[in-house]
Amino acid sequence: EHLLNISGVSASADEKPILHGVDLAIDAGECHVLMGPNGAGKSTLGHVIMGDPVYRTTSGTIGFDGADLTDASPDKRSLAGIFLSYQAPVEIPGVPLYSFLRTICQKRPELKMTAKQFRRRVGELCEQLDMDSSYLTRELNVGFSGGEKKKVEMLQLLLLQPKLAILDETDSGLDVDALSVVSRGITAYREQCGGALLIITHNTRILERVDVDRTHVMVRGHLVAEGGPELIGQIDTNGFERYEAAEAKLE
Ligand code: ADP
Ligand code: MG
Ligand code: MG
Repeated sequence: EHLLNISGVSASADEKPILHGVDLAIDAGECHVLMGPNGAGKSTLGHVIMGDPVYRTTSGTIGFDGADLTDASPDKRSLAGIFLSYQAPVEIPGVPLYSFLRTICQKRPELKMTAKQFRRRVGELCEQLDMDSSYLTRELNVGFSGGEKKKVEMLQLLLLQPKLAILDETDSGLDVDALSVVSRGITAYREQCGGALLIITHNTRILERVDVDRTHVMVRGHLVAEGGPELIGQIDTNGFERYEAAEAKLE
């Protein structure tokens, strides 16, 4: 039984088909990487797994941890243990980061903590992520730099301890500090929670310190190749050309 079992999933937005018959399975604790040229549908797949209502799943099924979540709300998927870090994290004016984190934890019975335990846990995580505790009183993501937003994401990830984390990395502009935050967060997540990962990225530097089990390549909404971690290096060197040619033959 796979933790995540995506079978034959096609999806569209605004009646425009984006994903075509995607099959992808992730076992508990595994680390998978999804690569592909810009516009291939990688972020769409992340959003479809999370149940973002912007996208309509037109066929196929999404199973998670023994349940069929194909038609479940994002909230239900989140409670089931799926976490998605958005390519562009939302800013929520008026809501301090600390209150936001407390609220999301309180929604989960399995993360029940007293106010004091919560404060201690957040303090530990801030230290681990080299995050100044003054962030906690600031409004969520408002005016945060890219690196600071990444720290907030990693803080959420480590607090929530999901069974599957989907990390959708920005195509551009993670500075060295932000890269190091992400790879530290990923390592801590794997060590502390033993959770599975789907990392969507162009930036193979993030992957240098991560043990990857499987790599998937998406072109124009089709998964056209799957392999081990060696695919990452090959793509780094040769780009997506041969995968685009393979996809063209599908049509
Ligand atoms: P990637 O993450 O691989 O760069 P995306 O999933 O963001 O690709 O986008 C895949 C394709 O779907 C693109 O052509 C994009 O314009 C289109 N698309 C994504 N989201 C929407 C949407 N909400 N409405 C219409 N088209 C969309
Ligand atoms: Mg993109
Ligand atoms: Mg994307």
